[in-house]
Amino acid sequence: MSTRKTTNTALSFAPNIVVAHRGAWKKNKLPENSIASLKEAIKLGCTGSEFDVHLTTDDSLVVNHDPHYAGLTIEKSTYTQLATTKLSNGEILPTVYNYLQTGMQQTKTRLVLEIKPSTISKERGQYLAEKVVELVKQLKAEPWIMYISFDYDILKKVIELQPDAETAYLNGDKTPGQLAADKISGADYHFSVFKKNNSWIADAQKMRVSLNAWTVNDTEDMQWFINNKFDYITTNEPELLFDIINKKRR
Ligand code: MG
Repeated sequence: MSTRKTTNTALSFAPNIVVAHRGAWKKNKLPENSIASLKEAIKLGCTGSEFDVHLTTDDSLVVNHDPHYAGLTIEKSTYTQLATTKLSNGEILPTVYNYLQTGMQQTKTRLVLEIKPSTISKERGQYLAEKVVELVKQLKAEPWIMYISFDYDILKKVIELQPDAETAYLNGDKTPGQLAADKISGADYHFSVFKKNNSWIADAQKMRVSLNAWTVNDTEDMQWFINNKFDYITTNEPELLFDIINKKRR
């Protein structure tokens, strides 16, 4: 694979391009963003496992995709209120603390931490970024984390607080040159963005901006991003992507 921009040199993660989207949940019908789905991504040997983070009203960092959980708005509920409803596999709603502690028991799979923009205010998004970086530092989890967000200012906040942080922008509306100028490490865009803006691929590779595409779930698309030498492919089908990569090597 192409040279990856690494600022945290202490760990070398599995040398593949597979990032499990919300953990590896689909094949085994696990809940998305569960500890079980993170463990499955680790078991498969994915180089990364992605998960989504929100902040409760009492400052708990929780892992869930939607801004709502069990009919409650996460940002307007306490962790205790949210945790009364278990995930479908019986797990308690994971906190980021639990998630990082689980991930840090191994060194093959990077933790791709998506900081969700606040649905309440831009300022609360900045506060969420502060809380996330504070926890990462407290746990000394920095070498495991790649921060991603749709909110450019959240990533800028992360870099301000942790200048060597590896970051990638999700929203698809910045050129590799803009990302490099703002010291954002990667372009992690919807796959259609790269197909529309083909020249961004070579530009990013020249500027050592890492390339990741989401959410790539079928063979033909996977092959396209493999052929274009992407650093990462984010997928709901990590098993399929491994099959394709491993067949190619034979
Ligand atoms: Mg996500």
